[in-house]
Order: sequence, then C-alpha cells, then structure tokens
Amino acid sequence: MGTQTLEQSIRSNYLRVMDRIHDAAVSAGRETQSVRLVVVTKAHPVEVALAAVKAGARLLGENYVEEAEGKILSISGEHGVEWHMIGHIQSRKARRVCELFQYVHSMDSLKLANRLDRFAEELNIRMPVLLECNVSGEESKTGFPAWDEHLWADLAQQARQIGELPNLELHGLMTMAPYYDEPERARPFFRKLVRVRDYLSKDLPQVSWSELSMGMSGDFEVAIQEGATIVRVGQAILGHRPG
Ligand SMILES: *Cc1c(COP(=O)(O)O)cnc(C)c1O
Repeated sequence: MGTQTLEQSIRSNYLRVMDRIHDAAVSAGRETQSVRLVVVTKAHPVEVALAAVKAGARLLGENYVEEAEGKILSISGEHGVEWHMIGHIQSRKARRVCELFQYVHSMDSLKLANRLDRFAEELNIRMPVLLECNVSGEESKTGFPAWDEHLWADLAQQARQIGELPNLELHGLMTMAPYYDEPERARPFFRKLVRVRDYLSKDLPQVSWSELSMGMSGDFEVAIQEGATIVRVGQAILGHRPG
C-alpha cells in the first residue's frame, strides 16, 4: 500500500466500489446499469478529482459552489464529466450553480426552485433536479420536511409547482440517512424515501419520479437494495477527507 501512488489507490478503490455496486444490484435482482455512481470530491484537491476521472468516474459531486469552481474549471476539458451539486444552495449562489453544474440533487425549497428556473432560462439550459427530503427529522439536515406522512400532502403541493417550472426537469428524490456505524440501521430511512416517491408519483403522475439519490460510503449497498438509482460515494473511493 505504501508504495501505491495516489492514482493507483483511487483506481483500485473505485473498481472495488463498482464491484460492490454490481453485487448489491444483482443480489437485489436489479440491473447493474440501473445504479449510477457520483464520486463526491468535496474537500479534496483537483488532483484527487482528476485521479477519479482517470479511474473511470464520470459523475462528480460537490457541496460548496466556491470550493467546486476551481475544480470544475480545471477539469472541464475532460470528456463527458458531469458535475452534480449535492449540498445546500444559498439563494445568491443559484446563478453560479446553473453556470457550473449539470445536475442538482439538493433542491430544498420552492424559492430556490424558482431562482434556479429563472437562471436556467437566462442561460438557455434545462436543469435536471431532485427534491431533497429530510426523512429523519434531524434538525441538522436540510431538505423538505418529509419524516412523517402528514407532511407529504404539502410536499406534493410544492412538487406540483416545481414540476411546472419550464426550465427545470424534476426527476426524483434525494436523501441522506442519519450516520450509523451499522448500515442496516439506515434501511428504514431509504424505505421511507421510497414511500414518499410512491406517494408523489400517485399524486403527480405527470412527473417522472425515476431517480432516487440515496446511499453514501457507509450505506450504499443497503440503499441499492432499497431502490437507489444514484449513490453518492466519497471516502470509500478517495479516502478520508483532508482537514
Ligand atoms: C459528503 C457527502 C456524501 C459522501 O459521503 P461519504 O461518506 O464520503 O461517502 C454524499 N452525499 C452528501 C450530500 C454529502 O454531503
């Protein structure tokens, strides 16, 4: 291990995670291609993000606009790389998000949706978005309140308005389970997101609810068993975040 270069260790971690995604999908009776991997490069320097791209990663995730900007601009020459915004977006950063990112997982208010729609129109793009849902009730978490069934009608009403915004493409839902050492404990939260999706797709059948972005380094296999179509993995591929 000590003699491995950064690039080699990221490559072998990436391949191991891809194998684990494959095995989890197969064991759940799903097609491997039904699960996409976003490699989360937050807090890592551009060399690390580039090593992930060289290993085969095409979808990269970042949480903070300022931090992502330099990485995005210096990697923009690499073919087919898509940047996914996965962190809370401040209103005043909405325009920059539309300029830099190709996908937004962390849409957590109607107000933000309206702003993203406006800037997407100005830039003449259509932005794919997911509604971030807080299914745990943890106060530290952002996202539409969705931990209890009685909250879902209100969510559906906001989702309806977001679904009608002409420059956004609503594709589904995103969540973060609470952090546990035991991945099995995250399972009820992934199941709850699936139930929110089922509720919304009954209420708003005109929207495509095909994407579920859930599962991180510690729990992505459980998330895939529960139906994740996008997993967001950082540490298991890139190692511990510096700082
Ligand atoms: C940091 C982060 C991840 C990745 O977490 P790891 O534990 O490094 O896999 C995924 N999703 C979000 C929203 C994050 O902030």
